[in-house]
Amino acid sequence: MSVTQHVDIEQFMQGVVSRNPGEVEFHQAVYEVAVDIFDFIRDKPVYHEAQILRRIAEPDRVVSFRVCWEDDAGNVRVQRGYRVQNNNSIGPYKGGLRFHKSVNQSILKFLAFEQTFKNSLTGLPMGGGKGGSDFNPKGKSDREIMRFCQSFMTELYRHVGEDTDIPAGDIGVGAREIGYMFGQYKRITNRYVGVLTGKGLEWGGSLVRKESTGYGVVYFLDHMFKQDKDTIDGKVVAISGAGNVATHAAEKAIQLGAKVVTMSDSTGFVHDPDGFSHEKIQWIVDQKSQGRGSLASYTEVYSAARFHAGERPWSVSCDVAMPCATQNELNQDEAKVLLKNGVKAVVEGANMPCSNDAIAVLRSARVLFGPAKAANAGGVAVSGLEMSQNSMRISLKEEELQGMLREIMGNIHKNCLEFAVQDDGYVDYAKGANIAGFKKVANAMLAFGI
Ligand code: GLU
Repeated sequence: MSVTQHVDIEQFMQGVVSRNPGEVEFHQAVYEVAVDIFDFIRDKPVYHEAQILRRIAEPDRVVSFRVCWEDDAGNVRVQRGYRVQNNNSIGPYKGGLRFHKSVNQSILKFLAFEQTFKNSLTGLPMGGGKGGSDFNPKGKSDREIMRFCQSFMTELYRHVGEDTDIPAGDIGVGAREIGYMFGQYKRITNRYVGVLTGKGLEWGGSLVRKESTGYGVVYFLDHMFKQDKDTIDGKVVAISGAGNVATHAAEKAIQLGAKVVTMSDSTGFVHDPDGFSHEKIQWIVDQKSQGRGSLASYTEVYSAARFHAGERPWSVSCDVAMPCATQNELNQDEAKVLLKNGVKAVVEGANMPCSNDAIAVLRSARVLFGPAKAANAGGVAVSGLEMSQNSMRISLKEEELQGMLREIMGNIHKNCLEFAVQDDGYVDYAKGANIAGFKKVANAMLAFGI
């Protein structure tokens, strides 16, 4: 018996913490997965001996680089850029780029780690990666965004490729930014290939990509409810965020009969007791796309609504909470308030929006919990379909893609179920997602040897 078989989770985590000092978000993401994986591999020494989890929690590569750009006033500005290539055992690295002032190595390492499990769950051949910069796009002119994106790609192009690493968007990176980066890649390399996803429809993008993350979250919720002999129809839903994921999740939830009563941004949340409609959501989308600041102005147009400055929406009574903004936006106290108000399901649209102790509270109260790596995988799944379309030089029809997205979300739910059902009948989707995501990557790593 090898010595490594005796390593317990505490020792394992001590190693993770000491090798990655101060990277608290990364520790959090690894711990959340490790608890379930240690349980799963207890009687499977082959995974311990090959140090599989230790290896997945050590990114293959972290590329860190300087990005210089010139602002409109002629000042030279300096930013940090990154690409974390976590694991490419089941396919080329795949995952978004985030431009936000909070970006640092810890956040990108946690996102790349999570992405490895998420991509595995989609059933498509994609490894996990993530990148971005501490560049803050808020308040920047279009030209400044363009110059930053070009400069970012001037370094990134040498680390990516259509069969190596395929970035996409994330917070602060949408079709406009992907366009500027794709243009620069093409200029430098003289190659027209699917090196990025989330592209515009006229130049290699895929239908349904934009809607896919938010729609997928609601499809996953729909499966969780059906498994529980319940339905989305008639449920009151609190959503955080007002970006691509939040607005499309809201739209789909409304289509399936739910009443969405909150949306939020970094300045606070709007509570609309009448419920959001397609038209109201479109108003938010328009405001945000024109770069107009706070959601506070919503109440000037829709007077029944109230704006709560500087607060998050989890105090509002709801059946379903859908955090769709960013990491660690729902803590243990907020989870307890949700419970007190009778929440039935919490489903993660953002990546790691719930803290580990919030998840623990929800799990022990037997509330349905849809973890991000399963629930929000629809986005990267349609990115995978965009890659296939680019390789084949074809464009699939909207109907086909909508059907494929629904099918993939159904399969993710089914894959989670295999490892999720507890002795008392509670379906622990977090556990199911962690184990199902791990198994595929781990088996590929075993096949490749040390
Ligand atoms: N940023 C998204 C995610 O968190 C999408 C990544 C992609 O499409 O590659 O999954």
